[in-house]
This record gives sequence, structure tokens and C-alpha cells, in this order.
Amino acid sequence: MTKLTAEELDFDNLDFSYKDLPYRYQAEYHNGAWEPGKLITDSNITLSEAAVVLHYGQEVFEGLKAYRRKDGGINLFRPDRNAKRMRESAERLLMAGYPVPDFIEAAKAVVKANQDFVPPYESGGSLYLRPMLIATTPMVGVKPGKDFIFRIYATPVGAYYPGGMKPTAFVTSEFDRAAHGGTGQAKVGGNYAASLLPGEEAHRAGFSDVVYLDPRQHQYIEELGSANFFGITKDGQFKTPKSPSILPSITKFSLIDLAKEMGMNPVETPISIDELDEFAEAGAMGTAAVISPVGSITHQAKKHVFYSETEVGPKTKALYDRLIGIQYGDQTGPTGWVVDVPLD
Ligand SMILES: *Cc1c(COP(=O)(O)O)cnc(C)c1O
Repeated sequence: MTKLTAEELDFDNLDFSYKDLPYRYQAEYHNGAWEPGKLITDSNITLSEAAVVLHYGQEVFEGLKAYRRKDGGINLFRPDRNAKRMRESAERLLMAGYPVPDFIEAAKAVVKANQDFVPPYESGGSLYLRPMLIATTPMVGVKPGKDFIFRIYATPVGAYYPGGMKPTAFVTSEFDRAAHGGTGQAKVGGNYAASLLPGEEAHRAGFSDVVYLDPRQHQYIEELGSANFFGITKDGQFKTPKSPSILPSITKFSLIDLAKEMGMNPVETPISIDELDEFAEAGAMGTAAVISPVGSITHQAKKHVFYSETEVGPKTKALYDRLIGIQYGDQTGPTGWVVDVPLD
């Protein structure tokens, strides 16, 4: 594959597809220790056909973005949180965690090396970083690998809402994305494999994605596709589900802090699928979109409409604008959320 040049990119019309940029970061773990990592140019990974990751799914990943500021500098948003969460995911799958400070330095190195590919501030795009950790040891029996590759690749992505925020329709699923006591709280590829069929069924039925309910009772909201859920009650309280099988979204925790700042008295609490009437607005939270407004949720053939099926609600929009403002460096947020990438 020939490498892309920054001149070839139309930054105003980027989608969410993979682009083979010049540099990625890689470190390898052998004999009980991480070897020094470095920037490399090869976008391929050569593996044994018996590598544990290929058969037993010993893989965890992360997702974060680098944002071009108005002054031309570049911000990472809370990379320490991604680094810590990746260690927690790795622990659940018996993998060697990558050290937090090294993760942050690696993320900075990938951004700096590919800095020409960070979309301009005006485009509303960003550079998406995909840290990943795979077990490479060849094994036939089901056992944890002893060798690992940590890699971060980067790809430029466009503004999520080029035409403004638009609510979409969701539908509850009979499937579960994660079992009670399973790996729902870890960012593992296997959870996504399990979500492909329910996601596809929802798309075919004309919905943007699935609402997963709790795996024990199918009563409480867990996640929306691969994002966390929030609702804003009629008296302005921000509520988001509490459950051991939800992926702890960094966007969610950030919005909880901002909701507090905005007087919305945020709580994490179980949210029953039968109590949607209490909400005036609802949304899905994650790095890719920050917030996807939820127009409606259809459950057992009954459609519940929130604020509107076509317009974003005012509190949802205010939360979105505040977080985006911090990420792109237009507004000052809580200490430590934004990390400048030194470009020399
Ligand atoms: C990554 C992910 C999220 C969102 O997490 P962020 O840290 O906000 O990007 C939510 N749910 C699932 C299942 C995820 O994998």
C-alpha cells in the first residue's frame, strides 16, 4: 500500500475510514518485559497463524482523538484515562498492561509524526488514534499468551455532524452485548464481534443502532450500540445508567463533570426501559460523536420519542458545545483534561 500524502486529503470531506498514514508506534513484550517502543512505517503486522489473538480473541483496544486548535497547536483529550482503562481491560484478559506514561508519550509521538494529517481547526475534523494490544504467542491450547504487541495507529476523521447535530432512532435488542460477569466493562474486540449481528438487524429495520438492556433481567438500559446512554429529566437532571457490565466511557465521565458545572445534578443510577417518560432529552456518549442525540427508542413495538425526532434538545446541545469547546481549546476546562502535543 502506498502511503498517503497530506496534499491528497480533502479535509472538509473526510469520512470515518482507515487511511494508511506514514507512522505508527509499536512496542513488543517478550520474556516478561516491554522492549523500548518506536515509530515504524509498516502498517502491516506479521503474526504466527497460531497467535492467541487470532483464535481466542486476546485483544484490547482504545480510541481517542487529537484536535487541531485555532492557534495551530494540537490537543489530546484525557489520554491518561485511556491509558488507565487499557490497563484495566488488559488485566481482565490476563495481558501485560502498557505503562501509563509510555502510552501518553507514544500517543504524542504518533500525533507529532503524522501532524500534517491532523485536520485543520475549521474543518471540524480530528486525528483518531487507535491504541491496541494483542497476544502474539503461538498456542494451540486455551492459555493466555506471553508475548504482546502494543501499537497505536492514527487516521484522520471528518466532523461527525457536518450538517449540524441530528437525532436518530434506536431500538431495543433481544441480544446482549456482554454477559453479567463477562467482559462488558473491558474494551475488548470480542464484545464487538458479539454486537455485529444485533447492529446489522437494527440497521436493516431502519434504526441507527441498538439499545442493549441488562443481561439478567432485560429491564435496565446498558448501552446504545458502542456508546453510553444519558437522559435529561423534565426538571433538568442528567441521569446515566449504573451497571457492572457497561464500558466506562471517558466521554460519559467528562459530561458528568460538566453537567455538575452546569447545575444538572448528574447521577449514575439504574434506568428502566419502562421509565423513559421521565426524560425530556436523551443521547449516546462516546469519543467518535461525543454526543449522538437520541430521537426515539422503540421497545416491544412501542416508539418513545424524546425531545424531537428531527431537532436536538437545548441541554444536549449545550453539553456538546461545552465539551467540544474544551477539546478544541476554545474553552478552558477542568485542570489536566487537555494535553498539548509538543510539535517543536
Ligand atoms: C469505547 C466505548 C464507549 C465510549 O467510550 P469513550 O471513552 O467515551 O470513547 C462506550 N461503550 C463501548 C462499548 C465502548 O467500547
